[in-house]
Amino acid sequence: MSTRFLNARAAAAALWLVAACTAQAQGGAQRPAAAGNSPNAPTAAQAAPRPALESDLAACQALVQRLSAFKPVDCARLAFVPTGAKSVRGRPILVREFGAPAAGVRPSSSQTGERAPAATLRQPRVLLVGGIHGDELTAIATVLRWAEWLARDAAGGPSKSDGAEVFHWRVVPAMNPDGLLARPATRVNANGVDLNRNFPTPGWEPKARKWWEGTARKDPRRFPGRAPASEPETRWLLDEIDRFAPDVIISVHAPFGLLDYDGPKPQNLSPPRQLGRLYLDQLGVYPGSLGNYGGVHRGVAVLTIELPHALELPNDLELARMWTDLRRWIAEYMQRSAAAQLAAGGGSGAEAGGATPRR
Ligand SMILES: [Zn+2]
Repeated sequence: MSTRFLNARAAAAALWLVAACTAQAQGGAQRPAAAGNSPNAPTAAQAAPRPALESDLAACQALVQRLSAFKPVDCARLAFVPTGAKSVRGRPILVREFGAPAAGVRPSSSQTGERAPAATLRQPRVLLVGGIHGDELTAIATVLRWAEWLARDAAGGPSKSDGAEVFHWRVVPAMNPDGLLARPATRVNANGVDLNRNFPTPGWEPKARKWWEGTARKDPRRFPGRAPASEPETRWLLDEIDRFAPDVIISVHAPFGLLDYDGPKPQNLSPPRQLGRLYLDQLGVYPGSLGNYGGVHRGVAVLTIELPHALELPNDLELARMWTDLRRWIAEYMQRSAAAQLAAGGGSGAEAGGATPRR
């Protein structure tokens, strides 16, 4: 998939964001009843995951039990469901969607207040992933906390509204459940592979192996695997990028205490300089990393959040600051993507009046 195509998708999604915000500002519905007639619209199965079963609850509770040092998490309320993918040890990779549009229904102009053709509208999609490294417990706890806030907003609780409710979220708290549930928890998966070096970046062979033998001095915690995408957890995320076609991927880690970014910079939009107390400090790219694969190779915005400690969770106030800053940046990214696309003449015939970015 080309970067140009991804930019076009981002532009369509940003138009959706502009339309939704316009409707909201005009006192209309916060969210069109439905969207999603683009070629990338989710299928009914994707948009409406089945209700959580007892076994899903047990899978969630196993993760949460491992995080007992932190504030309790209510698995029943979060209602994670399996993605269908399993870890090396056969554990489900759990997901929860928020803000998913109903499938196959086109938003009407009265719902959106939008003059652009409905075919160009698509809700911005955000994939939020924690725990690629199983021993970064705070990363998983942070994603769970943010999922709780999304669930609260979805249930009509006190709104923290600054755009979050207009995104379509897929939230995966623990991409490496085997690493989290190992005793002690491990960075690598059950095959001893660092999933964040296992993505099939161009030239993976021999670059990933050389990097591991040279720079990483054969550190077993950073073993990239014997082949690109050799691990089921990695393959799930690759499939998810194709299936969900996220505009933005947020990957939460610890403990370096910084932000990193790979991906497009529409209209010179810089990566977020700050989320809460975390500041941008770009690390560069590694062979096989998600930032390299998603951001550089696939042209999807990949924001890596490195919390300051793997075992000491920021307090709720700090998590709330990060959450607010994060959503604001995503909204700005989507709007600038739309403006850049329109300036390049790639606005899919959208009328200019419907595409004016709102800041
Ligand atoms: Zn990590």
